[in-house]
Order: sequence, then structure tokens, then C-alpha cells
Amino acid sequence: MKIQEKFLTPNKFSRPQIPLEKVTKIAVHYVGNKGSSAIANRNYFENQKNGGTYVSSHFVIGLQGEVIQCIPLNEWSYCTNQANGYSISIECCHPDDTGKFTDATENSLAELCAYLLEKFNLTADDIIRHYDVTGKQCPLYWSPTKYQSKEVADKRFEDFKDKVRKLLKTDKPPDVAELFKVRILDPVLNIRKNPGINSEKVGEITDQGVYTIVDTAMVGSVQWGKLKSGVGWISLGNKYAAKL
Ligand SMILES: [Zn+2]
Repeated sequence: MKIQEKFLTPNKFSRPQIPLEKVTKIAVHYVGNKGSSAIANRNYFENQKNGGTYVSSHFVIGLQGEVIQCIPLNEWSYCTNQANGYSISIECCHPDDTGKFTDATENSLAELCAYLLEKFNLTADDIIRHYDVTGKQCPLYWSPTKYQSKEVADKRFEDFKDKVRKLLKTDKPPDVAELFKVRILDPVLNIRKNPGINSEKVGEITDQGVYTIVDTAMVGSVQWGKLKSGVGWISLGNKYAAKL
């Protein structure tokens, strides 16, 4: 996914430069103008500077999956009503009246959402529809309408979030380069659910064997390592383990 930066000219209607202090949601929209391109929608926002409507979005994704960024991530967009103050907005183009996204658009949307969730330390549950904020049928294909029940609409949205979950780094197998082995020095080394001695004990290592570490974290000045088995974390302090 390549992001093309085509920032709007600052103006009160579409790029008011209000600081976006904290991002807690990623809001998805459909443009509601079938067959229109990403650049056409971006230019529509740009043209509001001449006196128009308070409307814009951080990103527009086109029918071929192209991604245009209209507004920096530390500024408000006018897209999601009362959620403007805490959300990044993404408008998606669509080929017809159903509002269904093309595969290319949806794939870019999933990649962009995964990128933003990691950047702002959020989870897939923090992706919202415009519908969830105001009840507006947006994105249309993921909202209850006379063409689809709430169950069908919600399922489509849930399936999309699952697609994003698969892209999140935390769900991926660790990079081989991050793996290393340690020999356990402590005769009885506690395994904890999370890094740190305050975390729940979930087991112990008593064989002073060699173990593979797949992830690390610092707790104070002490490095902790995640066991490849997935059971939990061990202290990698000098007294407890030696890197091989
Ligand atoms: Zn919307």
C-alpha cells in the first residue's frame, strides 16, 4: 500500500487545522458517489476552500485501491460528526449503488486500517462505521438498509475487521531475525503471563535448559523474553538466563 500525500490547502471548510489531540477510533465511510475516483473526491474537498461545506476526510481510497491522504494525522477532518475530535476518517470509493467496495479498495482499506491501528496502539475493535456514530447508512454496504438486515450488515463489517486482524503484526508469527536462544541459569525460574514480576505465574522452568525467545520487553531495567512455546515470559536478568 502506497500513500500519496495530497494535502488540502488549509481553509476553514475542509482543513481547519484543529489539532487532533488523541486518536482512539478509525472511522470508515463510503463516498456515496458511485464510480467517482479518489482524486476527484480529494479535489471536491479542496474546492470547499472557495466557500462551501464543512467536509473532508483524512484519506480517500480509490476503485483501484489507490490511497490519497488529504489531511495530516495530527489535524481534524470534518467527516464523522461528533467523532471528529478523536478519529481518523477514511472515505472509500465504490463502483455502483450497492456501495460495495471493490476487492482492491477493500484490501487497501484493510492495510491502511492495520497501519493506523498499530501507529495509534489500537485494536481492530477500534475501527468504527459512520453508522456507529450517527446511524447514517455509511458505509452503505455495511449498514442496515431495505436491501440488507442489520445482521447481514454487521457480519460484513465483522468479516472486514477479521481481515484487518490477520494483518496486525501482533497476530503474525515472529520475524526469524528476532529469535534468539538463552540458557537458563536459575534452578527454578518462574514463567509469567506477561513481562514483569507482578504478572501472574503460569509455570516454571527447572531444567536449566536452552530455550528460544521470540519477543522481548523491558520492565524497568530488566529485559524479559517471551518463550517460543507461548506459555509466557521469563526474566532475562543476568542471574536468570544467559544469551547464547
Ligand atoms: Zn460517512
